[in-house]
Amino acid sequence: MQSLDLSLEFDNQFTAEMPADPETGSQRRQVRAALYSRVQPQQVRAPRLVAYSREAAELVGLSDAQCQSDDFAAVFAGNRVLPGMDPHATCYGGHQFGNWAGQLGDGRAINLGEINTAGGHLMLQLKGAGPTPYSRSADGLAVLRSSVREFLCSEAMYHLGVPTTRALSLVSTGEMVVRDMLYDGNPEEEPGAVVCRLSPSFVRFGHFQMLAARREHKLLQQFTEHVIERDFAAIAAAGGTPEDRYIKLFEEVCRRTADMIVGWMRVGFVHGVMNTDNMSILGETIDYGPYGWLEDFDPDWTPNTTDAQQRRYRFGQQPAVAQWNLMQLANALLPLVQDPEPLEAALSAYARRYEQGWQQMMAQKLGLKEFDEPLISGLLQLLSSEETDMTVFYRLLAQLEPGDPGAWQILTPAYYGSPGTAHQQSVQAWLSAYQHSLQTQQVDSATRAAAMNAVNPKYVLRNYLAQLAIDDAEQGDFARVNETLEVLRRPYEEQPGREAYAAKRPEWARTRVGCSMLSCSS
Ligand code: AMP
Ligand code: MG
Repeated sequence: MQSLDLSLEFDNQFTAEMPADPETGSQRRQVRAALYSRVQPQQVRAPRLVAYSREAAELVGLSDAQCQSDDFAAVFAGNRVLPGMDPHATCYGGHQFGNWAGQLGDGRAINLGEINTAGGHLMLQLKGAGPTPYSRSADGLAVLRSSVREFLCSEAMYHLGVPTTRALSLVSTGEMVVRDMLYDGNPEEEPGAVVCRLSPSFVRFGHFQMLAARREHKLLQQFTEHVIERDFAAIAAAGGTPEDRYIKLFEEVCRRTADMIVGWMRVGFVHGVMNTDNMSILGETIDYGPYGWLEDFDPDWTPNTTDAQQRRYRFGQQPAVAQWNLMQLANALLPLVQDPEPLEAALSAYARRYEQGWQQMMAQKLGLKEFDEPLISGLLQLLSSEETDMTVFYRLLAQLEPGDPGAWQILTPAYYGSPGTAHQQSVQAWLSAYQHSLQTQQVDSATRAAAMNAVNPKYVLRNYLAQLAIDDAEQGDFARVNETLEVLRRPYEEQPGREAYAAKRPEWARTRVGCSMLSCSS
């Protein structure tokens, strides 16, 4: 591979405008009166490109040839710091599983710097590039397994139209990392990797919370102003008093969060660790850890074994947890606005926006113009009463004529078992109700399927598909990671020859670690 210069121009407004920790290096410490600490990525032995995202590369202005160069792998493994980069880790706190955890911070994320693009500015961030002051007792590294998952899912979500941080690259480091995958006293060496993520901002609810918890109110205000100026241009331009701006910011974060969660519920995504440090101020999906995709439709499902008892972050609970998290953000902003009333009003508006968004989204999934409460309640009841693959179900539903007497048979491939006659009858009865609703709402049957297929993906990053890509990657074969990315670039399209990627979970994956059970260990 040839060596190519990567001409990226940095414009680091965050580090220029926010106060820095006077100490540098990765010595673990509490960092007060500062938003970040300068720290260099760790050198690794043998960086090797596993995959990159064409669309993300285009965003930052890098060509295919540049992405395939040795320089690229060196830079995005953390081995080479380019001129203009200002590597740093940021300080935040958060509520973990409902409890205030104090200072957390970028324990294994290092921001490299910000660049300006045609679509706005982007922060480049390495995940897994070594320890920072915020690494606490951990090593700041990431394993290939979790990096494949983060890389693929970020781009899959983008192509699904769900707000998310992006992933530019996935580079293996040539070094081994020790992990006790299930926290059961069986640590093993696994290959290490680094993902480069992109977002206009990696600011989390926890950044505001940390400053509020330390009663650093002046800095909280300075930081909030920076965030508004940088990423909420409409609010900055609207003028008004400082209090007005902070309230508007909160209202906007509530709206974006509601829309993001509607997106998750539409495609069957379960984040798995919705701690307040994993909530983006931009309303983007962030921090892909033990996430999972609903296969059989079970609103109580969570992929995260760490949360198996409480199931705080189960699929059906996500809208409510997001609101709880927003309340923590409101508490953090309260010192800046004094009066809690407008913040409370915004929290109520969140609930209304979510509900309306969800209703509209469910109507669209069925190709309807309007929400039909009894019809949709009936459907959710049906989907959860038999093991039904949600993704397969909606695609098949788009194909059938609900008025046909044997229509339910078209749905049989969506089932993991063989539903009995009683269930078949319920489905047929529901299909009649559906037919009635379509007629009442005068839905054009010629365009219904296309409309449904535009919101119901055929291809999602099924848990076992990610695991198959990981299995190969761990053997040094990256073809499957790249093919999976390729399929997930067009999730709503039929892709002849790639049907295997749309297949429901095979039996072997039902109980396999990594497919149905994941831990935070990554
Ligand atoms: P997470 O649950 O992955 O969002 O991480 C929670 C906190 O733990 C964050 O502050 C992370 O930066 C930190 N963390 C997670 N894994 C590691 C690691 N391997 N090394 C250092 N810090 C980590
Ligand atoms: Mg996190």
